[in-house]
Amino acid sequence: MSKCCEYCGVTGNDHISGCPNYKTPFSAYKCELCGEGIYDGEKYIGRYLTVGGNRYVHYECAMEDPKWLMKFLGVDIETMRGCEY
Ligand SMILES: [Zn+2]
Ligand SMILES: [Zn+2]
Repeated sequence: MSKCCEYCGVTGNDHISGCPNYKTPFSAYKCELCGEGIYDGEKYIGRYLTVGGNRYVHYECAMEDPKWLMKFLGVDIETMRGCEY
């Protein structure tokens, strides 16, 4: 059951900008890759640092750039060597 907005006539929460019911969603979480906020219901990957604050990235954004994600997580991609010793 959703009703139309009395101002802009939109159903749901997608009000047109300028409508009194229109609110820019606020998020304290910001994706480092696309720069957009991370909102309710979105998947993200967080890195919780003791110094320098926490870092967040959308799951979808991270999946587009796995190498970036590795750096973000602080792990290295290594090439195995030395097996022939
Ligand atoms: Zn509206
Ligand atoms: Zn993103």
